[in-house]
Amino acid sequence: MAIEHYNPREESVKNDKDFESQIRPQDFNQFNGQQKIIEKLSIYTKAAMMRGEALDHILFHGPPGLGKTTLAHIVANELGVNMKVTSGPVLDKPGDLAGLLTSLESGDVLFIDEIHRLSPVVEEYLYSAMEDYVIDIMIDKGPGARSVQISLNPFTLIGATTRSGLLTSPLRARFGIQEHLEYYDSSVLCEIIKRSASILSVDIDDAAALEIALRSRGTPRIANSLLRRVRDFAQVKGNGKIDLSITKMTLDALNIDKRGLDSIDNKILTTIIEKFGGGPVGAGTIATSISEDVGTLEEVYEPFLLKEGFIHRTPRGREATDLAYKHLGLTRGGISQENKLF
Ligand code: ADP
Repeated sequence: MAIEHYNPREESVKNDKDFESQIRPQDFNQFNGQQKIIEKLSIYTKAAMMRGEALDHILFHGPPGLGKTTLAHIVANELGVNMKVTSGPVLDKPGDLAGLLTSLESGDVLFIDEIHRLSPVVEEYLYSAMEDYVIDIMIDKGPGARSVQISLNPFTLIGATTRSGLLTSPLRARFGIQEHLEYYDSSVLCEIIKRSASILSVDIDDAAALEIALRSRGTPRIANSLLRRVRDFAQVKGNGKIDLSITKMTLDALNIDKRGLDSIDNKILTTIIEKFGGGPVGAGTIATSISEDVGTLEEVYEPFLLKEGFIHRTPRGREATDLAYKHLGLTRGGISQENKLF
């Protein structure tokens, strides 16, 4: 009863808002993992509060679903200020940004998701706001048009991006704090899964939590999404408790890869092996072969494949490792069907 085309990343886009708000950690103590970042941020927020100043602007970068938005909410909560949320593609005119900036109270946080997708005019407009808390606005049109400078309340801009390589250097330089979020180890994902399960009042045993963690591509959003699906199976096919057997049954039914790789990860590995003899092959060539943007390949997909040891980088390009061959049930030189994992 395999369910075709299940993609936890897509599913999470449709995530029901109630679930999100219930399980999203609200303060630094509830946030699992990324320990070094948390330690630094808690010092910076305390120091800013002690001085009564707005916290310096922060840039969070890293693959999707690792907690950038969550951290922005936590920083605002810890500072005891309001947060306005927007995203790069939504702000297409400087006027949209001006409206948001002038509505901020002293110390508030403005969160801009996908900040690499800001239009150049809006981005330029942001510079003086970030640096001096002032913006220029145009009054009147035609020959009588003139610009007037208005002061803003001191605020903190938190930007999030999966593609830090696309940020211009003037924008990047205006963030005093820049943090890269890493994929989570399975032990930390286990804690996240258990925490979410307890908020949802579902019983889960350690082996089941570990199994979900191992198949979540190092990503809390995927872990939470899989937990929801296993909970459904446990309710309908089992006794409501989540144990290893119901977990395996669910993940197999969803065609979730044993190592948590998604269809694009597998496509990358298959392409390197089948089209380019295992590599080395350049990132641009792989990206073209799978019709993906090279930056997305390098910043979103590759880091996990490197971390898990499926590929390695050489000066001449990317190479598939033995683990990649084994994972795909291939041998160097030919396909061995009996080992095929999916
Ligand atoms: P991003 O903004 O990086 O795409 P989000 O902050 O939206 O990711 O996080 C995705 C989901 O994962 C949210 O439901 C959030 O509650 C959960 N999550 C992310 N990081 C953690 C963490 N460290 N501990 C617990 N839950 C987390």
